[in-house]
Amino acid sequence: MINFQGKIAIVTGSTRGIGRAIAETLAKNDCSVVISSRNNEAVQSTVNELKSLGYQVSGYAADISNIDEAKALVNFAVEKYGKVDILINNAGITKDGLLMRMKVEDWDEVLHVNLTGIFNMCQAILRPMMKNRYGRIINISSIVGQMGNAGQINYSAAKAGILGFTKSLAREISSRGITVNAIAPGYIETDMTQAMSETAKETLTLQIPLGRIGSGEDVAHLSAFLASDLASYITGQVVNVDGGLVMQG
Ligand code: NAP
Repeated sequence: MINFQGKIAIVTGSTRGIGRAIAETLAKNDCSVVISSRNNEAVQSTVNELKSLGYQVSGYAADISNIDEAKALVNFAVEKYGKVDILINNAGITKDGLLMRMKVEDWDEVLHVNLTGIFNMCQAILRPMMKNRYGRIINISSIVGQMGNAGQINYSAAKAGILGFTKSLAREISSRGITVNAIAPGYIETDMTQAMSETAKETLTLQIPLGRIGSGEDVAHLSAFLASDLASYITGQVVNVDGGLVMQG
């Protein structure tokens, strides 16, 4: 049984989808969670919904691709709670297109949010986490960072970048009691994957050994484990939550 009593977490991109499921799972297990996204209204309504379920949550709107806003988000948590134990770098976007036609702005934006955003959040959190001599950092990558995906050059490059980032940071800060791991979700039912046609979903499901598209909770359960003391001997790893779609070893 995992219990996060006394622990403080920031979950970026937690107003919907996977981030929201992670925030709810941590909060359900007594973690105090800071809800965040760029949209202040969505942050406040998510906070209100989770509070009405009896959970300890607060909210702060920030664009993690902006270093000053990332720092302000971390400062908010440190000033409110005195520390941050868990950082879940979940916020991400897509701007799909074939390389032939991709605008450099779409390349830049996806790299900036999905990869530089994690750099910004990790740099901001390092000092307080080192002072705390404890930390769990979990970066949400994707299976397309491992296997590639036509039409997602920018997104898959950013998600592959997260894997190198995770391993390097794990090596830099493991002596400080901080673990850094990545999760590579497969296809998860959220707003991000809503645009897929029913036929595309059916074809995809046939390729998934466990025979279904994943849910936010599937990713949240692994996040909770990696964020807990049960995972204290695990760092620099990439764990897939993809129904067996990508099998490595
Ligand atoms: P989603 O439903 O689109 O939610 C994305 C969240 O990130 C929202 O809360 C969004 O809120 C926030 N966000 C976006 N840009 C941001 C920024 N610059 N600063 C702060 N917050 C930002 O996406 P999802 O499907 O849950 O995906 C969550 C993560 O899992 C992403 O990193 C995604 O790449 C990854 N992933 C998803 C799948 C999948 O199949 N769904 C598969 C593999 C990996 P605002 O727009 O209001 O800011």
